[in-house]
Amino acid sequence: MPELPEVENFKRYLNATSLHQRIISVDVRDAYVLKGVTAPELARRLKGRRFESSWRHGKHLFVRADGDLWLRLHFGMTGSLRYFKSRGKAPNHARVLFVFANTHCLAFEDQRKFGEIGLIKDVNEFLKKRVLGPDALDISRSQFREIFTKHRGAVKTILLNQNLIAGVGNIYADEILFRVRIHPATEAGHLSEKNVDEVFRATRYLLQNAIEAKADADLMPKSWLLPHRGKGGKCPRCGRELKSSTIGGRTAWFCAHCQKK
Ligand SMILES: [Zn+2]
Repeated sequence: MPELPEVENFKRYLNATSLHQRIISVDVRDAYVLKGVTAPELARRLKGRRFESSWRHGKHLFVRADGDLWLRLHFGMTGSLRYFKSRGKAPNHARVLFVFANTHCLAFEDQRKFGEIGLIKDVNEFLKKRVLGPDALDISRSQFREIFTKHRGAVKTILLNQNLIAGVGNIYADEILFRVRIHPATEAGHLSEKNVDEVFRATRYLLQNAIEAKADADLMPKSWLLPHRGKGGKCPRCGRELKSSTIGGRTAWFCAHCQKK
């Protein structure tokens, strides 16, 4: 499921391929993806415009078109972007194609169909309406500390709550807690201020490095959890078998030896 590092890479990809070109048509191949806009309206409002810049907040990507119109993208479980040469070569799971004047296209691909596309006027208004917390790479240490003093529950559940911190999902929450050797089910109230500061630093460090590794597990250090997580995986620190359990409705992977409650 695309988390902050994946979405940041989609943003960079879109910036490198799809800005400043006139949009000649928008081809909606599967309308489930549209939220609050119909296919004809999306096409009518974007036709003749250009994507000028983009903005990411948490797992949301916002693309500004000239005329102060924002396209909003959420990648759900399997969403991604692909830029390619001609309409006939659209990927199998392309749900919406933005066709440019040079006949190249940008596809929103989404195999499992949990993605979302909409049009909005104002990004801040949208973030407020969704009650999204600060972006996980923008949040300050004092904001981070405040979240952990005000909220109770498992530390992993807090990291996953998009209304508190936007951008961390299941994979990176596990990675953060593995790095700081904290069991994912640990009660937030039991963490010391030093623990919280370590979680804060690990969040920044891991997200930034995952972005640079193009969010690709094969390019991540072998000392991380991600290349090993899954059945039969071994802890890269102590060599014991990794464990899993359901915390906050999601499957957590961790090392029961290195991460004590
Ligand atoms: Zn271990």
